[in-house]
Amino acid sequence: MSSAGVAEDGGAGFDTVGCDMFPCYGNRTDTTRRYTLYMVAPVIPITKADTSARALPIPAAAAGAFDGTTLRDTRGRPIRDLRISVTDRCNFRCTYCMPKEVFDQNYQYLPHAEVLSFEEIERIARVAVGLGVKKIRLTGGEPLLRRGIEDLVAMLAQIEGIDLTLTTNGSALAAKAAKLKAAGLHRLTVSLDSLDDKTFRSMNDVDYPVDKVLEAIDAANAAGFAQVKINMVVKRGVNDHDIVPMARRFHGTKNIVRFIEFMDVGATNGWRMDDVIPSREVVARINAVFPCAPANPNHVGEVAERWKYTDAGNEDAGEFGVISSVTEAFCSTCTRARLSTDGSIYTCLFAQRGYDLKSLIRGGASGDALREAFIGIWQQRRDNYSEVRTAETAKAKKVEMSFIGG
Ligand code: SAM
Ligand code: SF4
Ligand code: SF4
Repeated sequence: MSSAGVAEDGGAGFDTVGCDMFPCYGNRTDTTRRYTLYMVAPVIPITKADTSARALPIPAAAAGAFDGTTLRDTRGRPIRDLRISVTDRCNFRCTYCMPKEVFDQNYQYLPHAEVLSFEEIERIARVAVGLGVKKIRLTGGEPLLRRGIEDLVAMLAQIEGIDLTLTTNGSALAAKAAKLKAAGLHRLTVSLDSLDDKTFRSMNDVDYPVDKVLEAIDAANAAGFAQVKINMVVKRGVNDHDIVPMARRFHGTKNIVRFIEFMDVGATNGWRMDDVIPSREVVARINAVFPCAPANPNHVGEVAERWKYTDAGNEDAGEFGVISSVTEAFCSTCTRARLSTDGSIYTCLFAQRGYDLKSLIRGGASGDALREAFIGIWQQRRDNYSEVRTAETAKAKKVEMSFIGG
């Protein structure tokens, strides 16, 4: 998810609903109109997930189009981030991500044989880094459920020049934080949607208590992850009463809360625009209690917009972030590729189909062939789903977030 206005024509990367199923929206760049999308009925019904989408053919790399320094897509965006989903399984059933009604005991997760091995993941990661990736995020599903995850971290930590990070629901973090640190993980993000125990238990829908996640954050800090990021997905009428308490809890610490707009990811989460609290409203609510001011991004393409607390005389008041995936598209600076649990590359969070690298690897492809495939995929990329989101696009079948990595 994200943005930066560039060329609008695009190549043949028909992989998001914005570009693929609704081509008439493909040239729209007016982000303000999104506020007119308010609607009451869910535009994504809570419905059965479908992971059977066929893979896209891997495009041929354009000869000479990549000079060996910066690989760019059709909109001029370089590749900088790789998010790797190490498992499609999770022990939570967050209502906005893996609703219980869909991800029940009959849900067909990937069989073991279809899941990329650590060696396969490392191989793809190294190719991606060779093409410009600077940041790798391990995610899922719940990445700490993958057996031996610290071994994968240790393998990836050997790759020179990358920022290695992981996003977790925190349930296994207290036990794993020190091991992850020792394995070479640089940074951690923990998801926490409410400080109110009742609300949190109902949002994770497995009755998981908030105290355990707070303990896990403390354990991560104690293990040497000095600045943990805390993701809170905000849903109107569900946990928005917790915006200010969450800000208060981490105000004055090094940990940074990021308030995320509820997104229409996947095809199962019952999304409707009325449930989205625009980030500007989040900032206004916090500012009324803790005065704050915008801060410069740490780097181009940073997903979160940074806000520093400006409390008089308090240099260490800290900061928070907002991620406005719905109301302020940031596609124009989106430098992210995603590697699904079963080894396909998705060039957008809202994609319907990916490019199957696992078959290439298991078919004996050489390093050069893998690199060529990656170049071809990125060169054809033209995704801009969040810039063109409408009630219609939101209804389309998209791959589940737990499968391609949040
Ligand atoms: N299980 C891990 C966790 O929850 O941190 C990692 C995977 S999860 C899919 C990654 C992030 O995506 C989490 O911070 C989660 O809150 C966020 N997320 C999931 N569904 C979302 C949605 N519909 N809208 C916005 N963020 C969402
Ligand atoms: Fe999100 Fe896709 Fe836009 Fe990137 S291109 S910001 S993943 S919607
Ligand atoms: Fe699991 Fe993370 Fe999705 Fe919640 S957001 S269901 S913890 S993958």
